[in-house]
Amino acid sequence: MDNNLKSIKAVLPPPHFHMVGDGFRVHNFFPSLPEIGLTGMSPFFLLDYGSKWLVSPSETPRGVGVHPHRGFETVTIAYHGKVAHNDSAGNSGVIAEGDVQWMTAGAGVLHKEYHEKEFSRKGGIFQVVQLWINLPARYKMTPAKYQTIENKDMTKVLLDDGKSSVEIVAGEFKGKKGPASVFSPVDMFNAKLIKGAKVIFSFDKNYNTGMLVVDGEIKINDLKNAPENYFILFGHEGEDIIIEAVEKSTVLVLSGEPIHEPIASYGPFVMNTESEIKQAYEDFKTGKFGYLED
Ligand code: MN
Repeated sequence: MDNNLKSIKAVLPPPHFHMVGDGFRVHNFFPSLPEIGLTGMSPFFLLDYGSKWLVSPSETPRGVGVHPHRGFETVTIAYHGKVAHNDSAGNSGVIAEGDVQWMTAGAGVLHKEYHEKEFSRKGGIFQVVQLWINLPARYKMTPAKYQTIENKDMTKVLLDDGKSSVEIVAGEFKGKKGPASVFSPVDMFNAKLIKGAKVIFSFDKNYNTGMLVVDGEIKINDLKNAPENYFILFGHEGEDIIIEAVEKSTVLVLSGEPIHEPIASYGPFVMNTESEIKQAYEDFKTGKFGYLED
């Protein structure tokens, strides 16, 4: 009997989807759901979840054209399909199935995100997560950077059943560390579980913790079930979380130390004050974010 189980605050079904550009059909779990809001998952600021979507073939890739970001990081995780990315810092790449792209917008970057050409031509199942991770005030104007984290670069911890594993993107699990470099403490894992597998995670009481069921169905703390596309928000009592896979499952696990600083956000910018938001628009209009061809 575990007397240090973390409380479950809510098991949330996916909100109705909306389109980002014409290429991303996403459910926004936060900040739009009132149960989570602007700070309930801090330092994670936004979770746009593109649940499995059958994309019809198109010679012209669907996506989002050139747009700016400042003050945070975007993390894109491809579960099905491929995303092509280009930014004004000169970085470009393809995020393939199982890969993660970790872009620090920091002081500012322009980028565009489209279905990768070949994927677009053939069509197929598309399933992608985009997270925005807030930056502490002192790092908001850090130079833009880009980390490509291919699946092979992730630290993989095999579980006792010999078939299930936990892939560490960022942070630490069972003494093993993930490859992402971060500006504040963040844990990000993919738990890939066979039916019946059990895994225990442990996170600091003060951290904000949540999980997204990307595939399958899980039972949490021997108490509550969460099916595919549901998000589990944990409370701040207790530290341990017991996950049991009701069927073969993939779970995105997120935990991090909250950033206790004011938030001013508008569109593609997440800053601390309204005047910093105004400045971001001014800098964007006057070309200070660089240049990127449409
Ligand atoms: Mn973007």
